[in-house]
Amino acid sequence: MSAERESAVVATVPRRLLIGGAWRDAAGGATFGVEDPSTGRELTRVADASPADGLAALDAAVAAQPGWAATAPRERGEILRRAYELLMARQDDLALLMTLEMGKPLAEARGEIAYAAEFFRWFAEEAVRIDGGYAVAPDGRSRFLVMRQPVGPCLLITPWNFPMAMGTRKIGPAIAAGCTMVMKPADLTPLSMLALADILRAAGLPAGVLNVVPTTSAGAVMEPLIRDGRARKLSFTGSTQVGRILLQQAASTVLRTSMELGGNAPFLVFADSDLDAAVDAAMLAKMRNIGEACTAANRFYVQREVATEFAERLAKRMAALRVGRGTETDSEVGPLISAGARNKVAGLVDDAVGRGGRVLVGGGPLPGAGYFFAPTVLTDVPAEARLSTEEIFGPVAPITPFDDEDQAVALANSTEFGLVSYLFTRDIDRALRVSERLEAGMVGLNAGIVSNPAAPFGGVKQSGLGREGGRVGIEEYLEVKYVAIPASW
Ligand code: ADP
Repeated sequence: MSAERESAVVATVPRRLLIGGAWRDAAGGATFGVEDPSTGRELTRVADASPADGLAALDAAVAAQPGWAATAPRERGEILRRAYELLMARQDDLALLMTLEMGKPLAEARGEIAYAAEFFRWFAEEAVRIDGGYAVAPDGRSRFLVMRQPVGPCLLITPWNFPMAMGTRKIGPAIAAGCTMVMKPADLTPLSMLALADILRAAGLPAGVLNVVPTTSAGAVMEPLIRDGRARKLSFTGSTQVGRILLQQAASTVLRTSMELGGNAPFLVFADSDLDAAVDAAMLAKMRNIGEACTAANRFYVQREVATEFAERLAKRMAALRVGRGTETDSEVGPLISAGARNKVAGLVDDAVGRGGRVLVGGGPLPGAGYFFAPTVLTDVPAEARLSTEEIFGPVAPITPFDDEDQAVALANSTEFGLVSYLFTRDIDRALRVSERLEAGMVGLNAGIVSNPAAPFGGVKQSGLGREGGRVGIEEYLEVKYVAIPASW
């Protein structure tokens, strides 16, 4: 990849705030740098929204709400469909942009653009399927009319790990439902969101429907908007820690919330599994997005009879991965997002080794520029190791043996998180029985990836509230209104 092409792609992105349909500088002209995590160098600078800019964005969203709610559903759907087409037409450039700011290999970035675009296609189809109901009351005398209406202006906050898809799965249903938005992307990866906003403008999204405020002062900008009282909905994807803070703030205005928070996914392999398939899926569940996914397999529990073989096979596959800058065509594992993220992963591995964990492959950061970490497999990791309880967010696979099904389920559920669990077995009874017993919003049954725009994504326990995608995805952006009608005939 030539440096010229990289700079050219970055230069095409509007690097300002989008408020009321106009690209603006931040109040006072503040900017912040966006870094390439594979080199540590600054790629460009982006306007840094202040609390006053945030308020201007909410003003614009509130002003646009009535007109947008009155727009024909077909028109809203067609804007999404055009944006889907534009995303796919620009897939290569958008993938490069994402790789530059986030680090994931180009092939994965291309995959994310397709995944992100698919939310627009899905919700383009849902926009014209918002229905209601008419019913006769049990007493036979009154009638119920039930309608669904846009919830109103939404506050959306997205993380850096999937800079495009975490945006489209909020923006898509909000547009389909007829809601306006203030979007705050992660300050580590604002470029993908700014490029997306530009595409939505080109697709015909009216001014003020989507307002984008990148900022390094997330709390200072968003808290006043949450407490303002004019927004009607908060949708957040990020850490459980920040989710808790936002839920407390949202209580002040009884804001509807959707929360996609942390995970600590168990990956269960029973001795009756197809081991080849389990290892393939383990690679996907662990290494997709460099391990920086809330759905990443965090803890591998393997039945004792096959534990050593599984560990050896996984270690061999992990050792063969090519680590390198995501823009290099043969790179399979990019850098972690920041020096802090890399230090955190190193600390978790050191803690596990200090408690008796054994390194089969990898084990630490790689030397040189960028925040690269060696793909790592550990065995004999004790339950009290931090690796067993904390979200790793890196290319580290800890493996622990188990003896029977009850123990496996108990281990899998021994966490405050409940986003996804992976389960490998060829016994149909066990597959269904264990799927029912797992405390998770999603189960990958002999599958290493669960994400699909047409399916309901979300967690139970402290992994979150609500679902994104699927038939229920749009419900999060709709209010139900019931009209009571006495039958006088
Ligand atoms: P991660 O660990 O993935 O960075 P965070 O929860 O820290 O997850 O961040 C996810 C998103 O939440 C980012 O856009 C970040 O800027 C934003 N964020 C962090 N702290 C706050 C806060 N106090 N209020 C609002 N948004 C926040």
